[in-house]
Amino acid sequence: TLTKETLGFQAEVKQLLQLMIHSLYSNKEIVLRELISNASDAADKLRFEALSDNSLYGNDSDLKIRVSFDKDARTLTISDNGIGMNRAEVISNIGTIAKSGTKEFFQSLTGDQAKDANLIGQFGVGFYSAFILADKVTLITRRAGSDEAVKWESAGEGDYTLEAVEKAGRGTDIILHLREGEDEFLNDWKLKSIIRKYSDHITLPIIMKKSEWKDGEQVPTDEDETVNKASALWARSKSDISDEEYQEFYKHVSHDFENPLAWSHNRVEGKQEYISLLYVPSRAPLDLYDRERKHGIKLYVKRVFIMDDAEKLMPQYLRFVRGVIDSADLPLNVSREILQSSRDIDNIKAGSVKKVLGLLEDLAENKPEEYAGFWKEFGRVLKEGPGEDFANREKIAGLLRFASTHADTDAQVVSLKDYIGRMKEGQDKIYYITADSFAAAQHSPHLEIFRKKGIEVLLMSDRVDEWMLSSLTEFDGKALQSVAKGDLDLGNLEDEAEKEQQKKVEEEARDLIERVKTTLGERVKEVRVTHRLTDSPACLVAGENDLSGNLERLLKAAGQ
Ligand code: ADP
Ligand code: MG
Repeated sequence: TLTKETLGFQAEVKQLLQLMIHSLYSNKEIVLRELISNASDAADKLRFEALSDNSLYGNDSDLKIRVSFDKDARTLTISDNGIGMNRAEVISNIGTIAKSGTKEFFQSLTGDQAKDANLIGQFGVGFYSAFILADKVTLITRRAGSDEAVKWESAGEGDYTLEAVEKAGRGTDIILHLREGEDEFLNDWKLKSIIRKYSDHITLPIIMKKSEWKDGEQVPTDEDETVNKASALWARSKSDISDEEYQEFYKHVSHDFENPLAWSHNRVEGKQEYISLLYVPSRAPLDLYDRERKHGIKLYVKRVFIMDDAEKLMPQYLRFVRGVIDSADLPLNVSREILQSSRDIDNIKAGSVKKVLGLLEDLAENKPEEYAGFWKEFGRVLKEGPGEDFANREKIAGLLRFASTHADTDAQVVSLKDYIGRMKEGQDKIYYITADSFAAAQHSPHLEIFRKKGIEVLLMSDRVDEWMLSSLTEFDGKALQSVAKGDLDLGNLEDEAEKEQQKKVEEEARDLIERVKTTLGERVKEVRVTHRLTDSPACLVAGENDLSGNLERLLKAAGQ
């Protein structure tokens, strides 16, 4: 069918376009960055598909991106000879949002432009950012291996048109028909400086026409010039890379708008050879808890892009880490199946996890404020660590932060090391309480005796805490002990006089205990005199080996 057809955008796309035009209009330079980033992704995809079908290159294996402009037509064009798209791909990639977290994204919008701009950034505006600069966008694309091309065009409102067209080579041209007042983007110097600023790390050459000065004006010549450095950033030596370059590269691999919190760049040599460049983001993505989430570590083999989100390279509890791993040992035709059972991958993973944990330790030690920010965003994910990564349990435990009765606020700032440093003489356990809310933990009657004696107790109320505690039973040789479980033996923390006093009370209460037992019957396992309480008359206690009351409530709520 050669006829032109008009299709409607998915409702979410319409909403996203509106938001973007109204919230991100000041971020004009990112448009070029996003479109160049897409062109680079398209080249990566072609290289990867061509590994198993070399004919896809045709007679054009020299992958590049071209940026050009036309002052009279007021258009700016970004072209690539990457994978291209067929008609169906255009419809599904450009007309709809298939990303996970779409619903959460729209729900979390506040109407506050600054905040929302941030969220839109996290969500990945990519292609649609074109409408920040353009009031009409034309996309002409031809998929590798096909001779049919398709033209997509839209004014960024409700719909777009599609029609079959002729296109000489493989790849995609994106033509921006600039909005009124955006003529500064029809300037050679301006475009080149944006490209150097935002896209220097792109591995493909980004080509523009050389220009020369004539009569006080810069005019393009017929000669090409490569504007960017065009080498894989991670393969360069650390001392040659500026912080700005690391940050821009992060934005490219992570689809994040904000700068990363920290990064670690390593070249590993010896039995195994690989380069890793790993980033910790500043802010949690919306899909942190989404099983279908994309974006993680990009796997390369000798500079050739192999796959996105190689989930075998990072454990779940470090799923927020972004970056690149480039192996010199893996075969180029490595598949997800091979990754599942590769010793090489296991070793790379173990090495990379060490690097990330080291990076976090460094942050915790030297930049506590930044670490506090990290903890707010990712602490609950890191708490999955002790259960998932046995080998690094102690290291992870050292990175955990909790609220406690010391400051008595819900801020999670206390490390286990801090806690141990404040332990009372004779105290040999790390005491904690779990509850389904901070207030419930803080006001639990189980704490009374501890407060009276001035013994610190960790206050835990995150959902993940129970799960974490099932694998984290000690730290630095000190057992973690729930104050709501079993017999409360404060050991050396009680003196002889107190113990005498307690015995006496137990004698006196014997009749009362018998009566309570008969009344409650089967509903309780046992009734005991307690010395935990100073104000409350009674409290519920779980057996040492039973589920805690809090966990029991969680399971019930989950329908177990
Ligand atoms: P993202 O890059 O995060 O996937 P974008 O909005 O930037 O999101 O792009 C959406 C999709 O459109 C891409 O995933 C890709 O499939 C397709 N696409 C965009 N630009 C190109 C291009 N130059 N060549 C091929 N496909 C492209
Ligand atoms: Mg993109």
